[in-house]
Amino acid sequence: MSRTVIAGGGFGGVSAALELRRLAGPDHEIVIVDRDEAFMMGLRKLWALIGYGTMEEGRRPRARLAEHGITFEQRAIGSIDPASCALGTEDGTIDGDHLVIALGAVPRPDLVTGLAEHAHDVWDSASVPAASAALEAFDGGTIAIVIAGGPYTCPPAPFECAFLIDEYLRSKGLRDRSDLTLTTFQPILMPNAGQEGSAMIGGMLSERGISTRTGAAVKRVEDGRVVFEDGDLAADLIVGVPPHRPPVVVKESGLTGDGPFIPVDRGTLATSAPGVWAVGDCTQITLDNGMPFPKAGVVAELEGLVVAREIAAILKDESAPPPFDGSAHCFIETGTDEAAMFEAEFFAADGPKINFADVTTETSEEKHRFERDRLREWFPD
Ligand SMILES: Cc1cc2nc3c(=O)[nH]c(=O)nc-3n(C[C@H](O)[C@H](O)[C@H](O)COP(=O)(O)OP(=O)(O)OC[C@H]3O[C@@H](n4cnc5c(N)ncnc54)[C@H](O)[C@@H]3O)c2cc1C
Repeated sequence: MSRTVIAGGGFGGVSAALELRRLAGPDHEIVIVDRDEAFMMGLRKLWALIGYGTMEEGRRPRARLAEHGITFEQRAIGSIDPASCALGTEDGTIDGDHLVIALGAVPRPDLVTGLAEHAHDVWDSASVPAASAALEAFDGGTIAIVIAGGPYTCPPAPFECAFLIDEYLRSKGLRDRSDLTLTTFQPILMPNAGQEGSAMIGGMLSERGISTRTGAAVKRVEDGRVVFEDGDLAADLIVGVPPHRPPVVVKESGLTGDGPFIPVDRGTLATSAPGVWAVGDCTQITLDNGMPFPKAGVVAELEGLVVAREIAAILKDESAPPPFDGSAHCFIETGTDEAAMFEAEFFAADGPKINFADVTTETSEEKHRFERDRLREWFPD
């Protein structure tokens, strides 16, 4: 019996496993290894921040993947041996004929002085309850959302965070005695969306009275103050968006080369090691305009499909499937019942080609459906 081992049961890992299950014969074993018992989407963190549902409501046990004929092993991966497609864990080695690395990227507030101590990190689910309590206790003043370094997962999420906090403050009658500011170290608000997309987001922020500051490189964060290279911002509540890095085990695998992320072939997601692929936030793909391919769940999911098709073709001795074309769409929530969407061809020559759709309630419903459908289909009761 042949076996594919998938390290990480997030968007990329689960999508690869399900597609491979669909394509490969029943005698091909598929094992997902993740240290956490349950799957949850990142979007839940922002909803939980403003008390719009709970994170628990979005959690599903990975053991339910057994319904699809996928084995889930709840274990912490301590080492990766690409040469033997093997994962080292405290309870022994798990190896296979093919290995997919889908270990994501974790927020690293420690990379910016004072960020961990003085800012709330809603990119980390463990920190969401404290951030939510601080927001609940907020009684007017200044809230700063500070994009402190990159790359970070889900490029639109800090803007969604601003829109949701704005909506929350309005619902509490606090908006007219609150300043809401978003700062970013980047030269424009959302480089992945280009000048036009950044201007569109900037317009929506400004309509709601949310001020922005670009090119704001953070020197350090202090109690109630963000110190930039060129000035300070005093704030009563600071939400920090930290730079992200893959888990240490990824760096120690030797697959990352000089950088922290795993460089992969953008068409096949193959790594430098034969029989080893990597998908999602732990990877590095550089676009034709020099920008990194965005790190998002929708992207990791698409990449998982590509890798599954690659492995299935090998198993069936068929010709290779078409390469990944880098097309993806992305929602931008502008409140709990309105959202915008953009569709992008990220691998287009000379840089991404992007189309924007208007802000509508239907798009917001689509975003909610995005979560609901996956939770139901991926983790059946
Ligand atoms: C606030 C917020 C909002 C977001 N909103 C959206 C959105 O609306 N749409 C969207 O597309 N994306 C969104 N994202 C981004 C999305 O969550 C990530 O891009 C996506 O989860 C990446 O998928 P992945 O499979 O690469 O990694 P992950 O989903 O992070 O999965 C990696 C898995 O590896 C496991 N793991 C890591 N190290 C080990 C180890 N040593 N041993 C065992 N297991 C390990 C982890 O437990 C995890 O389950 C959001 C993110 C945040 C933080």
